[in-house]
Amino acid sequence: MATYIFGHTTPDSDSIVGALSLTYLKNKLGEKCIATRQGEPNPETAWILEKFGFEAPMLKTEYAGEDVYLIDFMESSQAPKDIADANIVGIVDHHKLGDLKTTTPLEMWVRPVGCSNTIVKQMFDYFGIEIPKDLAGMMMCAILSDTVIFKSPTCTKEDTKACKELAKIAGVEDYKALGMEMFIVKSDVLSASSKELVLRDFKDFNMSGSSVGIGQLEVVDLSVFDTMKEDLFTAMKAQKEEGNRHTVLLLLTDIMQEGSQLLVVSDDNSKVEKAFDVTLEDNQAWLKGVMSRKKQIIPFLEPQF
Ligand code: MG
Ligand code: MG
Ligand code: MG
Repeated sequence: MATYIFGHTTPDSDSIVGALSLTYLKNKLGEKCIATRQGEPNPETAWILEKFGFEAPMLKTEYAGEDVYLIDFMESSQAPKDIADANIVGIVDHHKLGDLKTTTPLEMWVRPVGCSNTIVKQMFDYFGIEIPKDLAGMMMCAILSDTVIFKSPTCTKEDTKACKELAKIAGVEDYKALGMEMFIVKSDVLSASSKELVLRDFKDFNMSGSSVGIGQLEVVDLSVFDTMKEDLFTAMKAQKEEGNRHTVLLLLTDIMQEGSQLLVVSDDNSKVEKAFDVTLEDNQAWLKGVMSRKKQIIPFLEPQF
């Protein structure tokens, strides 16, 4: 029986590339694994797959009775609905400890670094397995994406080291320029609907029983959103109602200015105001220096619930 390897719902580049890179490694180690995904690749991920000549992993949303490895998440709110009936044999992740439970011992590779693919790179090194050129290129892009070209406060020396080594294997000299090219692709938000944009990089969290959904869009110039704010708020309100959520946040992150415009739809705006020590104006606030949801948003918001 094969083991399925997949990342979180609304997959990002780290989740998709991580499923492929970890599957490659595990197969080399003699474990029969199949990379899967829980949703459609976003435009950035599609660009990476195309650039390095890979197919997206197969879409699979039900895992009852299957053996699974999780990569890039360990929260039930980002897992398949039937995850409780799957057998989690391992987790490779760089997020906070989630709420998933297992009934048997499992393999855990969890480190506070900027990207799951940094950990996968370290696993390749640990097992002495060579990384193929094109796979290295994709893993490099995943690190550049998750660390926002090393600008995110989540980025560690281990990420820059892994990224540089992968760039060398991939034969990419100016990896920062490639990262910038990727973020320009990511900044093309005008062709998408506001609903798609809110959900493009969206994560749900259970905060002491309240459901909180947080989306993030990382662009090179925030002015692309100037004419879209009202539509984005409408789409956020719809998500809040449909998902019976207490709060929906959208972070519009400007990777050049290194900060985020926070859009809020909540049953209680004061929780958000207290969390970030701001006064919301028109349900918005500029959060200077804030680029990371996992490090600069969740740890401050969660204690308010
Ligand atoms: Mg991710
Ligand atoms: Mg990640
Ligand atoms: Mg991210």
